[in-house]
Amino acid sequence: MRHARMVRAARLPYLEAMHLGDALSARARSARQGPAISFEFFPPKTEAGWAPLFRTIAEFEALAPAFVSVTYGAGGTTRDKTHALVLRIRRETSIEPVPHLTCIGHTKDDVRRILELYAMNGVETILALRGDPPVGAKFHSLGDFERAEDLVRFIRVEGARLGVHGGRGFAIGVAGFPEGHPETPNTLHQLEHLKAKVDAGADYIVTQLFFDNNAFHDWRERCTLAHIRVPIVAGIMPVPSISGMQRMADLAAGTRFPAALLRQLEHAGNDKVAVEEVGIAWAEQQCRDLVAHDVEGIHFYTLNKSDVTKRVCQALELPRANSSANIKV
Ligand code: FAD
Repeated sequence: MRHARMVRAARLPYLEAMHLGDALSARARSARQGPAISFEFFPPKTEAGWAPLFRTIAEFEALAPAFVSVTYGAGGTTRDKTHALVLRIRRETSIEPVPHLTCIGHTKDDVRRILELYAMNGVETILALRGDPPVGAKFHSLGDFERAEDLVRFIRVEGARLGVHGGRGFAIGVAGFPEGHPETPNTLHQLEHLKAKVDAGADYIVTQLFFDNNAFHDWRERCTLAHIRVPIVAGIMPVPSISGMQRMADLAAGTRFPAALLRQLEHAGNDKVAVEEVGIAWAEQQCRDLVAHDVEGIHFYTLNKSDVTKRVCQALELPRANSSANIKV
């Protein structure tokens, strides 16, 4: 208890932001506002990568996102860079940074230290993930947490102890997989596992990227039937290039590439600009449909580049729709 008070006292005087779960739920109640927009980045691989990334983030800041998220390397090497990038976004921009935190390979003490660092620096939302074990590793040798559900429960308790959001704790996001997760072919079980994360304390869900909105709509309806009531943020990635799409097919295993999209990409052939245009047009069409279906949020996987995603947002006039979304109070 004494320790919790010390941590609270040391917190820096950042403006209190609205709880992200509440901000997204408010979107659900007011379709007029349109979806909350957010962007995902990964930490730069080299020192030289920081300046261009910050220029990119500044460009996105002008679009008034509800938050930006920063990925976390389950492998270990880039973890400190995630913390550094998150804290820098917090210090130098007006955007709410949301760190991803994977639990695989972490002890409870590791996670406690990370949460304290974030709490002290006014970072009040966490995307809680399991991560994937390194190839060949055994699950039981991979730290104190078996699943994201365990991490959610731990963050909930620690956030309250640290006095985050006035003692309510961190706002917590979790991952959802509209087209399934490779480890759980039984889709009924998968929804039960998602529900378990929400019951453990998750405030919202961000989905794996998808190109087929029908799959998303159907899964969203199945979430409702499974009594999953938290806001769902749809993950969108404009196809950047053929090689980028192939990498994504590996990373986001199970994601369906609709024939209509593949046909258009085939037509574009080796013309990189034409491929990019197909990617932008497809993502724009997906987003218009998501807006029409009153999604609470759209999360763009940016690959640390602004041009393509910005064009999709501009085509949708999302900056204007989103300008009242500044969630600082
Ligand atoms: P969990 O919810 O723990 O689920 C993992 C598997 O276990 C699923 O198949 C689930 O159905 C199954 N399961 C859950 N509970 C049970 C149970 N009780 N019994 C049996 N099976 C169960 N990875 C990174 O390394 N870094 C990142 O920054 C990152 N960011 C991501 C962001 C988003 C939006 C998404 C969608 C994924 C991200 N990932 C990231 C990838 C993610 O870590 C992997 O997809 C991982 O395999 C699943 O993570 P999870 O949090 O959904 O795990």
